[in-house]
Amino acid sequence: MKFCRFASGNKVRYGVAESDTITELKGDVFFQYDLTDETHKLDEVTLLSPCKPSKIVAIGLNYRSHAQELGMELPDEPMLFLKPSTAVIGPGEDICYPPMSQRVDYEAELAVVIGKRAKNIKESDAEDYIFGYTCINDVTARDLQKKDIQFTRSKCFDTFAPIGPCIETELDPRRVKVESHLNGELRQSGNTIDLVFPVARLVSFISQVMTLLPGDVIATGTPFGVGSMAVGDTIEVVVEGIGRLRNRVVAASIS
Ligand code: MG
Repeated sequence: MKFCRFASGNKVRYGVAESDTITELKGDVFFQYDLTDETHKLDEVTLLSPCKPSKIVAIGLNYRSHAQELGMELPDEPMLFLKPSTAVIGPGEDICYPPMSQRVDYEAELAVVIGKRAKNIKESDAEDYIFGYTCINDVTARDLQKKDIQFTRSKCFDTFAPIGPCIETELDPRRVKVESHLNGELRQSGNTIDLVFPVARLVSFISQVMTLLPGDVIATGTPFGVGSMAVGDTIEVVVEGIGRLRNRVVAASIS
């Protein structure tokens, strides 16, 4: 099923999307919910980020090809960093280009959405804790990433975590295409078969460090082909079986 979060009028709701129709849900999508009789046309609502993570745990260098293009060695354990909840935007919202950076890159990634509280989970049990999968753009100020020791500044600007358009609950994450398209041109084309650390390993590993909560997101890493974006560009992250996450880049307003 494809779950989405959307605004219609001044109401925000969860729903299940099927072709061009969303059926509204009542209750909590991560705990207990019921389908209602209310339906909406997909093109008459505003899709929002499909979850509101308390944290995004992102993985660095999880595709061999991306480590090579950055000239970095593969880590022997998953390399973790965080993106804050305040960086999250939904489909169609604008990525703001921060004045502090001269080089802002897209990174197309498969995102895991956690379904229930996970602490010290075994790799073989990881699937039980996953609600579904979505697309994320791990937007990165590459110049600041190179300059700073920590990733905090380069990865955490407001709007640097577009997520969506929906959460697909029936996806086998072991072999899906992950792409980015800049102004309609294909820029990245990878497949999760090339992940250094697969999804179940990541959930287990992270849960031994920090408790994962329902709605939390794991950004599983980006394939070869990262590149820069300019103000006015449109960037799309496409993950096979999930959909297309499209955002525009705008100049940050100074206020
Ligand atoms: Mg990344």
